[in-house]
Amino acid sequence: MNILITGAPGSGKGTMSRRIMDTFGITHISSGDLFRQYIKEDTEIGALARHYIDQGLLVPDDVTIEIVKERILCFNEDQGILLDGFPRTSIQAHAFYEIEKKINRPIDVVINLVVDKELLIRRITGRRMCPECSTIYNIYLNPPRVPGVCDNEGRTLFQRPDDTLDALSVRLNQYDIHTEPMLEYYRKRGIVKDIDGSLGVEPVWKEIKELLEKIDGNPRD
Ligand code: AMP
Repeated sequence: MNILITGAPGSGKGTMSRRIMDTFGITHISSGDLFRQYIKEDTEIGALARHYIDQGLLVPDDVTIEIVKERILCFNEDQGILLDGFPRTSIQAHAFYEIEKKINRPIDVVINLVVDKELLIRRITGRRMCPECSTIYNIYLNPPRVPGVCDNEGRTLFQRPDDTLDALSVRLNQYDIHTEPMLEYYRKRGIVKDIDGSLGVEPVWKEIKELLEKIDGNPRD
């Protein structure tokens, strides 16, 4: 089973991806994580990506396609793939069509998490992370016991530079401009499933799990 998960920043893609991976044993490929890895390793691509990411802009298509393609082509396990955050533009979707053919792994379903903008803003601008254990908090929705401090590690929490209101406004705008047309491409293939991502984690997960069990033909406990 090959899945693409998409949604605006703050729609819950990351949380749902982890659950899909754990439940269905699918390999997770996240373009955002790949970029963060390149940035951490201080590579040339990392420096280029950071320039765009910190402003909330999309990294140029040619660079993005190349790094995701490299990751997908070196993948030869017999499990499915969960693509998270890629393709994000029509150009990437067309490029991925060629990759799909090459690896003979057509996308079965595109899960589109739909959340209204006000909630996205609270989710993203309130998000804080522990530099040690990467636990994610939200100062409005899920605050730590002591403001600004990780419950587990006692370290000072930080905010991702692209989670500020300024960067988020750009990211939401980029989403409308680039990602909506990308979705249209998959709607024409009849494989997009819109899911209300504003419900809590459990109801959203229940819907996704039931959908994937139908496709996979294998109910999970
Ligand atoms: P994410 O973790 O998916 O929210 O991605 C974080 C940032 O990485 C995005 O705001 C973009 O700047 C960049 N990025 C991730 N995936 C893509 C993509 N498919 N195309 C272009 N830029 C991307």
